Amino acid sequence: MNDRAEAASRTPLEERLIELIRLKGPITVADYMADALGHPHDGYYMSQSPIGTEGDFTTAPEISQIFGELIGLWLVDAWRNMGSPSSFNLIELGPGRGVMMEDILRAARLRPEFTRAAQVCLLETSGRLRVEQQKRLKASNVKPLWADEFADIPPAPSLIVANEFFDCLPIHQFERVKSGWRERMVGINPDTGKLDFVLGKTPAPASLNLPGDDESEPGDIFEFSSAAREFAADICKLLSAHGGRALIIDYGHRESGLGDTLQAVRHHQFQPPLASPGLVDITAHVDFEALARVAMDAGAAVHGPTTQGQFLERLGLNLRAEMLCKGKGVAKADEIRSGAYRIAAPEKMGEIFKVISFSNPSLPAPAGFDDL
Ligand code: SAH
Repeated sequence: MNDRAEAASRTPLEERLIELIRLKGPITVADYMADALGHPHDGYYMSQSPIGTEGDFTTAPEISQIFGELIGLWLVDAWRNMGSPSSFNLIELGPGRGVMMEDILRAARLRPEFTRAAQVCLLETSGRLRVEQQKRLKASNVKPLWADEFADIPPAPSLIVANEFFDCLPIHQFERVKSGWRERMVGINPDTGKLDFVLGKTPAPASLNLPGDDESEPGDIFEFSSAAREFAADICKLLSAHGGRALIIDYGHRESGLGDTLQAVRHHQFQPPLASPGLVDITAHVDFEALARVAMDAGAAVHGPTTQGQFLERLGLNLRAEMLCKGKGVAKADEIRSGAYRIAAPEKMGEIFKVISFSNPSLPAPAGFDDL
């Protein structure tokens, strides 16, 4: 490709990042991710229609209505554990197209007092997705509040859910070199003129407690998400001040460990994470151990992580699937069963996706985390 064709194939965000890096030097992977996903004009969530078969990726609530329904019943149970408060926040972080909240509210109709008491709060930065959420929730007869930041959520007893939200929060990456750890940065490859990974010049701060020499070797990568930790801390502060419980579902690992999990997806296909920023969804595995530690330090009771498959089965996935199949034709019943299989089978989403819950310590253990 000649220079002009090369420049024409760049996304507007790539142009801007290249200009910025030329002026100021390499940026962190976290800053790259934050811009690629959240840039107010060209960020992926602001400018694309990411979710669903027509989009770039599909999530559990989009695959099966049972996912949101079981979570709705879990929330009603948690509300009763809280003493059935007459007013509380029902918060979803990153609601996408609003499908899970719609399913939650439909299942919760079993307890009309729950729905009457709930102030639905949606934390969403994308204007496009807010419009979709508003349309979808119209029939549910709730008047949602939208928040840009966690700090904008009203102080009140709260039930909080987040599905595939933490995986899109920016991560820092550190690379082990002979003399210790250096931050992995995004710079410009002098030969191709394209974005490329480079090593930061200064050692990583000792305060991060990165794995020791005996636990890692040169070339290893360790990921650290300050943003995910801050969200976990903010959630637990709200729960400890006002009461309530949170449920976080995402793909990731139980224990902090080494490995590069940064990935980009477009039209259901993996892409190199530094190609086409703004056009691709960029995510990383969630470090559940790190979240659990933050929550415990903030005084919350932590349950899990358990696998998504086990969690859903404990909440009655198969029973609900069979109930839904009753009276349906063969094709519809197959679709229901295959949706349930995709969200819970270990070889599909059941094992890689984990579920963790944080609670005000005054509450009993939540449903779904222990075999009865
Ligand atoms: N929970 C949905 C969508 C997951 S995609 C589902 O399961 O289908 C991630 C969602 O988080 C999108 O709605 C995106 O716009 C939102 N989001 C990403 N980063 C955010 C941030 N920092 N603050 C608020 N919302 C964010």
